[in-house]
Amino acid sequence: MYGQSAGGRDLVAWRVGKGPGSLALIGGVHGGLEWNTTELIEALRDHLLTDPGLLSDGTSLLLIPLANPDGAAAGVGLGGLSNAHGVDLDRNWGERWAPTAQWGKRVVNPGAAPFSEPEAAALRDLLMEEGIQAAVFYHSFDVRYLHGGIFSGAGPASASLAGAMAEATGYPLSPPAVDYPAGGRPVEWLATQGLAAVDIHLPDRFGLDWAANRQGLIALIQWEAMSGTGTLRPTPTPTPTAGIPQAPPWTAPSPLYGDLAAGYPLAAEAGRFTLHYQPGTLADGDTDYLVTLTERALTHVNKTLGASPTWHFDLYIAGTPFAYPGETSRGYTLAYGRQVFHRYDATGPLVELESGLAHELTHLTALNEFRPASSAMFSEGLAVYVQWPILEAAGWLQLDQVCAAMHSTGALPTALYLTSDAAGYNGYLDQDNYMASGCFVTFLVSRWGMEKVTQLYHSAAWEAVTGLTLAELDRLWIEETAAQASEIVVEAKALVDLLEEIGNAYAYQAAHLKEIEGQPASWALDGLRVTWRMGRFDKARAYTDEFYALTANP
Ligand SMILES: [Zn+2]
Repeated sequence: MYGQSAGGRDLVAWRVGKGPGSLALIGGVHGGLEWNTTELIEALRDHLLTDPGLLSDGTSLLLIPLANPDGAAAGVGLGGLSNAHGVDLDRNWGERWAPTAQWGKRVVNPGAAPFSEPEAAALRDLLMEEGIQAAVFYHSFDVRYLHGGIFSGAGPASASLAGAMAEATGYPLSPPAVDYPAGGRPVEWLATQGLAAVDIHLPDRFGLDWAANRQGLIALIQWEAMSGTGTLRPTPTPTPTAGIPQAPPWTAPSPLYGDLAAGYPLAAEAGRFTLHYQPGTLADGDTDYLVTLTERALTHVNKTLGASPTWHFDLYIAGTPFAYPGETSRGYTLAYGRQVFHRYDATGPLVELESGLAHELTHLTALNEFRPASSAMFSEGLAVYVQWPILEAAGWLQLDQVCAAMHSTGALPTALYLTSDAAGYNGYLDQDNYMASGCFVTFLVSRWGMEKVTQLYHSAAWEAVTGLTLAELDRLWIEETAAQASEIVVEAKALVDLLEEIGNAYAYQAAHLKEIEGQPASWALDGLRVTWRMGRFDKARAYTDEFYALTANP
């Protein structure tokens, strides 16, 4: 313990390794809003404790998983950013402190004076008393930017460390000239004290990006070993990466119809497809990465469907929400124009983007190769069947677990219902149908193979293709799902209840879009969807509370 928060909560630091403390890792400065940084520091701590060989003799680390416990107690929304005084602790330090401050485009409270907050003062004192040489702060809710102590110009050590960690994690270095009014940041103050101080922004606000950040930790330990006490490695000159948007940011809604050339003015050719995007959005600078991700999704789709199409298509990457009627959509497919749309705006993890692209590319491929689907069950079910293994490979919810859980609580619709007109799809609004359709297609493929399923896709000639009526197939599928009851490892009721909440929240968003568009309610909804898919029902519940608190929908 090194102090208490404004709200009277303990501030806790962990020491790992022998010898004088030299390195510090700090998470949770933005409390509950960036809860994954706290989980990452805890995971790194546990990793160091189980594999002490990672630390060289005489190296010791100070780990502070949660620098802002008040924020963590205040939930996963914007309220979770500050301490109990409502102060952003990432703006309360002594270098370039100002009475006004921003977090992104939002105005935040930097406190009454530098170090007015007990958390900031206690962390400063701890790092100084321990003689820390390097401090790394973890943030999220941003996109793969790794910042050094760049504003003060006092940080050759910071730049050296930032360079080493960027190389190890693969995260881009932000250039020195980012115009962002963010005084009072701890890394700036620490750099003026001669420490190497670095901010790392994780790729999203949900995952740990474990492999990259384990490499980052190793790079940090090696950097310390190489620099020795007070002798630093030569400083590389920070070079601006292409990942930083230079053009004025695109703020218009992204169209799905009409003048697409005006709505997506930039383009990159990529063989089978043309990537269309907008200046000043995340895609502007990440085009190489997006092409690679799309090609990977495309390979997965073709392999799963047994298809080898050669036709060309257009991929539109939206940096803003879609215009009517796609405001709540993340992806969209216009099959006959061979056009696929997807949002890329830091609202979900990259693995979810890859899975979402696979979903839309399945629609595109199926509609062009197998002709139109005979029912919404086949259209959405095939897309869910193809996309889900990408999420499962990342350790997210297993599709068979979802349907076994739905069956065990009586929430699994029958295939007879799913293929009926009454099923009436509304995209994300019918989450039960959506997931169940994926399971039914999985069942069909496992019994009869993809080739027969592609015959069924358009014709629905159940008996001619399988020898069984739809009612008989339905019975078999339900029996098979019921037999998995003993293999359910998830909390079935929570899974089903929260799936229902996602549908309700999307319906509410669609009905009240004007009021909540661009508001933190959308972030809460993204959090609900993503953490449910990850199987993190505790967090999904927190995002549900946040969504209803913001929209006042009981
Ligand atoms: Zn779909």
